[in-house]
Amino acid sequence: VPVRSRHREPAGTLGRRAELVLSGRAWIQHRIQPVEVGIDAQGRISAVARTVPGGRRKDLNEALILPSAIDLHAHFREPGPPGAGEDFATGTLQAALGGVGVAVDMPNTLPPTTDPEALATKDARARRRLAVDVVLLAGLTSPARVPALSRTAGGFKLYLSPTTGIEPPAPGVSLRELLSAVEETGLLVSVHAEDPGRFVSARPPESVAAWDAYRPAGAERAAVERVLAAAPPGLRLHIAHVTDPGIADRLVELGQSFEATPHHLLEPVRPGLDARWKVNPPLRPSSAQTGLWERFRAGRIPCLASDHAPHPLAEKQRPFPEAPSGMPGIETMIPLLLARVRAGELSLDTLLRASADRPARILGLPLGRLVPGHRAHLMVVDFRRLVTVRSDRLHAPCGWSAFEGREAIFPIEHYFDGRAIVSEGEYMGDREGRVLRPEYARSPAARAAAAATVDA
Ligand SMILES: [Zn+2]
Repeated sequence: VPVRSRHREPAGTLGRRAELVLSGRAWIQHRIQPVEVGIDAQGRISAVARTVPGGRRKDLNEALILPSAIDLHAHFREPGPPGAGEDFATGTLQAALGGVGVAVDMPNTLPPTTDPEALATKDARARRRLAVDVVLLAGLTSPARVPALSRTAGGFKLYLSPTTGIEPPAPGVSLRELLSAVEETGLLVSVHAEDPGRFVSARPPESVAAWDAYRPAGAERAAVERVLAAAPPGLRLHIAHVTDPGIADRLVELGQSFEATPHHLLEPVRPGLDARWKVNPPLRPSSAQTGLWERFRAGRIPCLASDHAPHPLAEKQRPFPEAPSGMPGIETMIPLLLARVRAGELSLDTLLRASADRPARILGLPLGRLVPGHRAHLMVVDFRRLVTVRSDRLHAPCGWSAFEGREAIFPIEHYFDGRAIVSEGEYMGDREGRVLRPEYARSPAARAAAAATVDA
């Protein structure tokens, strides 16, 4: 199960010549130690050892070389409505600057990415505009569309409640049929699990606390149980943005893949939070938030994901009930959590497993660890560089961050296939990101092999 992923490969070499050698420190065999990482001409890690002979050398001194993050949940709004204020170019730029090397893009676009034509349009719009790699999920609305979509999609996204830009499957569509159709393809399905039948409209949702009361954790729990009951055993299922410790425990018990977001992990419902903090599912009271964070620290939450969903500030400043749900977060996700590592509240190992290793396994991508053969998507972090988040230093076109003033550590460099794309907080890459598909999507045999790796 992805929850118990392994990290056992010894440091070693494949014998390919290193074109570039990064010399610094890294988390290797359960501790931080001096290390050199060789990168070959194909942009893959060729060696990880105390000393690596080879070509060009880059001395990073005390700084840490970490695998780039893989964000399982981002809304790049491509294509989006006029004035959406985000697209592939801006979204992946923020990813690059925040240490995210692969972002999984959601299908609630305009038009929604629910048919092969929309997916092809999206793929075409990605060319030469991506600062990092993306995986495109197709919206899962009808079993009949799944076979055609599966030829180009990187996976599927299922919304069980209405959300910005996409509707849940029609009432007549059987959840079991939908999920079985995806199982046939071997691809992943990520589920937004909230049951609108359990929403409680006792009072107008005019605050973050009232938003939580309106869309309670019980609605999440009911939807999760419904999905679990309908999911065929071979389905590669992933539950998005879990907010409740009880649900997390239930999913861990089942060995079920799921994610939590920085906002749900770090921020409880408090008086005075405005609609910038309006998200779906809602922020929870501090008892639930603390419980979620404790489980994350204990390594019991398999994946970290941003649910990056930027909305223009003017939209967020509308009266609370009308303000859209979602907040930008892909640029701050890793920096916020690295600051928690620096504060001694979280182990680096736990963060790397949740942000890189497990998401890569779930997506079937040769990424996420410092091992020979993996693509050299790497970031360089200096733990002395603690800063506070300032929206005017971020790169979201929406121009705001709910995390304003929080402590953060931004990567000083980001390597993409071994090429430096970020240096000293500036993007200097060449927009060479690609649309990726899981290795297991290529053939039934590769799918079986990948399933054995992930589920062992
Ligand atoms: Zn989302």
